[in-house]
This record gives sequence, structure tokens and C-alpha cells, in this order.
Amino acid sequence: MIPIFDMHCHPALKVYLCNAQFQKAHRPTSDYMPGGMHVDLPGLEAGGVKFLFATHYVPESGMKYMKNSSWLFRVLRWTGLKITHRFEPDEGPACFEKTLESIRGFNDQVTSAHNHFNVAVVKNLTEFENACDKGKTILMHGLEGGHHLGKSLTDEQYVANLVKLKQEGVCIITLAHFFPNALCGSGGGIPPKESRLLGYKRPEPSGLTSAGRQVVEWCQENGMIIDLVHATVEARYEVYAILDERKKSGKIIRPVVFSHTGVRTMVHPQMINELDRLVLPDTDELLKIKDYGGVLGMILMNYWQNGDNHQDSILISDKGIQPVIDTMLHIKELMGTVDHIAIGTDLDGFTHVPSDTKHVRYIDSLRQAIIQAFGEEDAQKICYTNAIRVLRQSWT
Ligand SMILES: [Zn+2]
Repeated sequence: MIPIFDMHCHPALKVYLCNAQFQKAHRPTSDYMPGGMHVDLPGLEAGGVKFLFATHYVPESGMKYMKNSSWLFRVLRWTGLKITHRFEPDEGPACFEKTLESIRGFNDQVTSAHNHFNVAVVKNLTEFENACDKGKTILMHGLEGGHHLGKSLTDEQYVANLVKLKQEGVCIITLAHFFPNALCGSGGGIPPKESRLLGYKRPEPSGLTSAGRQVVEWCQENGMIIDLVHATVEARYEVYAILDERKKSGKIIRPVVFSHTGVRTMVHPQMINELDRLVLPDTDELLKIKDYGGVLGMILMNYWQNGDNHQDSILISDKGIQPVIDTMLHIKELMGTVDHIAIGTDLDGFTHVPSDTKHVRYIDSLRQAIIQAFGEEDAQKICYTNAIRVLRQSWT
């Protein structure tokens, strides 16, 4: 069975927010059920997912202040699930401490599962290579959003916190998420139906801050993967400019990625909202990712693959994972190679999952569809070796 490298999924979010049990087998539940898990250790084993970026997300404080979100948190409290105390504090640097709490809580669960699973959380590239030799299922920490570094700090303090997080094993960071943070603006990333339900309003676009520019330089110099998902077009192009400048001055250039994404040309014209389309990389950006040696991890959420927001009606069955394969085929045609295609499922990120991959234990449906569309050799690249190449070039 070809191993799978999932570059973006959220079991650590479920552990942190809902005390979910990563080592236990879960039945597929509703995509939005807080305590349900789509990614657990038994499922990873059954699905042959050998490599995983466990993406942490301390929910941004802005989540509490969307027009309709307070009723949602009231309902959750009524069901006994109190979560808002785990969110990013409104002010100050304490989100950094909560990030460490999330990382250590997840580590504890993995450690307690050691007797039953051949699994390891690795903290650097050397540990990764050792764990590969032992045939372990390898988990690595990722962060979704620059807010994890804290608020109201100096540029040097943000970088100092990033250094500490790298020591804890963080290997990838998205600069942005749903709200502007100390590093950059947010391009959004909540689909229309969910946005309406929550009362989410996309922030005004803005680019990198001076702290954001320093973080990008630090990641390139010291080896942490920069993930461009959720960043504004302005911020993304500033990152490309920094990379181009580094190249000109003979500095090291490491690949950057979109860890969980579709591509813009594939969603037009179904995706009605022009601003949602801007979340996705356009053709020029795909070619830049190719030039930098990066990858695009395909998200298992069809709104971002084909722009069709009807799929999440209970009355209309969705198209399964075919739109994911269609996007992969498009990228191959554009680039002339599959070397920059990867997988970033976003499972457990409160996303609408295609009906044939409702739990990681069913991910063989994706593997088989990739083999059928691209053949065995290219399927190996898409399923895991492209992501490992990026890891080896962008992490230390
Ligand atoms: Zn995301």
C-alpha cells in the first residue's frame, strides 16, 4: 500500500478543544460535531497514513465576536462543552502559552498510545529520518495562523516565540487564518453557507507586517515551512518578493507551500464570490510554487476544488473526491509534472468532507483514484514523496 503524507489535518484541534481521544477508534460523525474525530490512530493505521502534519489551532478571539457565533457557543455550553476559555485571549501574548498547552496535550496522548501503536511525534529532521528507518507512523506539529505567536509583542519577541515553537517540534506555519494577526492580513477561507450561519465578515485585505516579514526571513534561514493558505494575495506576493530577493542575494531559498487548497481556475465560474476565489492560488502562483520546489496539498473539501457550494445540502449528494482528482490533473497539465502535487485533507477542521472519505480509515478511496488517474509511479509522488522532498528542504 502506498503510504500517504497528510500535510494538513486537525486531530490536535479536537484534542485541545474537546478533549477528544486520539488513540481511540471513532465512527464517522457529522462533519461539524465538535467531539467527533475523522482522524485517529486506529484510522491512520487502517488508512496507511504514515506521515502527518498535526495542525494546531487555538481559535482566534475574533471567533467569539462574529454576529451569530454567541448562540453557537451557548448551545455548546448547554450540551456541556465549554470551549471559549481555550480561545486566543483578546489581548496580550498569552496565546503563545495556549499553543504550548495544545502541543503538550497532543504529545501526552501520543505518548500514552506507545504500547499499542508504532507512532512517534518527531521534533526535527534527524528524528524524522530515524523514525522513518523504524517504520513508524510519524506525526509533526503544525500551526494554523500567526496569532499563535501572541499579540502586542515586539518583532524580536515574535521571532523568539517562533524559535521556542520550533524547539517544541513545529515544522510548518500558515502566516494567516480567519482574522488579521501580528504577521499579516487574512484572505478568509470560510465558505458562504458557514459564513452566513456564523455572521463571519471577511476582514479588509492587508499584507505582511514588519513582524511578518521577519518571520518569513527567519523561516527561510532556519528551516520552517511557510504555508500560504489563508494569506491575502497581497501578503502572498510579498512572500514571493522576499524569496526572489533572497535568491538574488545568494541566500538559501526553501520551498513554500499551500498545504490545503484547490486552484483558482478550477472553481470559476461556479464559485460566485470573487473574494473566495482570491483565497486560491492563480496560474502565476502555481508556477511560482513549482519554481520554488514547493507543493500544493489538495484539500478534501469540494467547495475549494470546484466552487460548488450546493454539495453541502442534505438533499443533494456530493461528487465525492472526483473534483480533487480533476484539480490534480489540471496542475499536472499546467506544470508538465506531478512533482508539486500533494495531499492536505483538512480532516477534523470542521470542514465539509466528500462523502467517500468521511474518516481517514476510508482514505484508500483517494489513493486508488490517484493510482487510476496517474499510475503507480506518479501516485507515489503525489501520496508522499513530494511532501517528504519539501520537508527535507524546508525543515531542519
Ligand atoms: Zn485552513
